[in-house]
Amino acid sequence: MRKKIVAGNWKMNKTLDEAKALLSEVIHMVQDEVTSDVTVVLCPPSIYLTTARQYIPTEGRIKLGAQNCHEKKEGAYTGEASAHMLSSVGAEYVILGHSERRQYFGETNATLADKVNVVLENGLTPIFCCGESRELRENGDYVGYVKGQLTDSLFHLSAEEFGKVVIAYEPIWAIGTGLTASSGQAQDMHFELRQHIASKYGDEVAQDTTILYGGSANAANAAELFSQPDVDGGLIGGASLKSRDFTTVVKAA
Ligand code: PGA
Repeated sequence: MRKKIVAGNWKMNKTLDEAKALLSEVIHMVQDEVTSDVTVVLCPPSIYLTTARQYIPTEGRIKLGAQNCHEKKEGAYTGEASAHMLSSVGAEYVILGHSERRQYFGETNATLADKVNVVLENGLTPIFCCGESRELRENGDYVGYVKGQLTDSLFHLSAEEFGKVVIAYEPIWAIGTGLTASSGQAQDMHFELRQHIASKYGDEVAQDTTILYGGSANAANAAELFSQPDVDGGLIGGASLKSRDFTTVVKAA
């Protein structure tokens, strides 16, 4: 049985006081209201990870995640944080290859393969993002493109290593735009990705892989998206900044 996960990607939002307030609201709401076995991953800006660690109980369904890490182990990389550092402050998950990182920070499939390696070496769980642009969706082989992102950044892993990876399908045209993929569009891509994983690692690994949907998922549409057989939860941006909305999404998983 694969894990259901709802992760909140706060991106570059919230002051420290606002972050503390959101953490305590979300933690209480999830603890009081969520009865399923969904895992909840909170990914605040890295500057707040240490504080967030103090709010999140060490045992239980709520986990702490980072939004990025550097691909090198350590060294002269001003402004960056390594996987080892993230692990030392108690992060358990790391979002990798978000389309904003690919677009604004030049991350390539090759850099991401290195990031996946350091994240796994440090015992953290990568949430590997993939997804196509609107142009590609309208005019190109978008399924082949997204499969290629997995091939290039993940398929060097052993089956055991791959088994630790969470995938997040995030069509770029749906991120922060209010345009959600229909549940059918999400299901179709998730199915294709699972087949692609099966072709490399076999059916058992593919069936055990958690594949999240991201892109304007919210309190109103999460239940429909998550009802699809190959959609195992979500990576939530905007709606993760409001405790009530985020909790509603978590309850839908
Ligand atoms: P969104 O962002 O929910 O605001 O569209 C999703 C994401 O970028 O992970």
